[in-house]
Amino acid sequence: MTAKKSKLVVSENVEQAYQKYRQLKLEVDDWLRNRGSYWLASLSLNEESPYLPIVDLPQDAIIELWQRLNISAKVEIADSTLREMWEQLKLGKTAMDPEMATRLQMAVSGVAKLASQTVNEKGVPELKYNARASERPEKNVVACPVCDEISTLAVLTGPDGKRMMHCTICNFEWPVQRTGCLFCGSEDSKKLLYLDNEAFPGIEMGVCEVCGQYFKEIDGRKLYAADYFWEDMRTLSLNYATERWIEEQVRKDNQIN
Ligand SMILES: [Zn+2]
Ligand SMILES: [Zn+2]
Repeated sequence: MTAKKSKLVVSENVEQAYQKYRQLKLEVDDWLRNRGSYWLASLSLNEESPYLPIVDLPQDAIIELWQRLNISAKVEIADSTLREMWEQLKLGKTAMDPEMATRLQMAVSGVAKLASQTVNEKGVPELKYNARASERPEKNVVACPVCDEISTLAVLTGPDGKRMMHCTICNFEWPVQRTGCLFCGSEDSKKLLYLDNEAFPGIEMGVCEVCGQYFKEIDGRKLYAADYFWEDMRTLSLNYATERWIEEQVRKDNQIN
């Protein structure tokens, strides 16, 4: 790799967040074990990607899991209120306290995992979504083929460093171009900068100077992660640091020109 490298400055405190997340995650896993097969039977996938967008997930499954997470957090709320909140959210209105929103996100993610599990079991033609960004400008290669959410997390897998995108919502993984920018497809290695921080070995932030977007890249050969959602959360400070870094570059460029 001939791309340029630079250092990021970060600060963080994640232990408390992890304890909260872990408690909810255990509930979600338990729900998937006990209720997963019941809800799996009611999922119907589209013929083409996105196979099952978030808005089309069975609402009753989301409410059931969301309520379970609320009970686990000792929050009392009626099912009907949750239904209303979910409807409002689908309309783009997001007035919800952050803890409630986190539990909803975990519930949506739990149900979406059933969709990606089905797609993995059925198998879908890779060609439908395995394409270079530059060859298919109409199709966003970083949008998850299952749930249609945008992923900014790439994982290099061993032994040859094949690059996969990982969806932190539904857990689906799909192959993407090995080098260059995932967003605009630029292959100019001089325009793709990799940033890292010694506190996070095995993780680099790719910043594209052509389109100004960034992504996180985990080298799975150096860093094993059992849970990519948490891995992404745990290292969110790298995203903030990258955004600050990009702003700083833009500011400097403006001063020069
Ligand atoms: Zn997904
Ligand atoms: Zn780009």
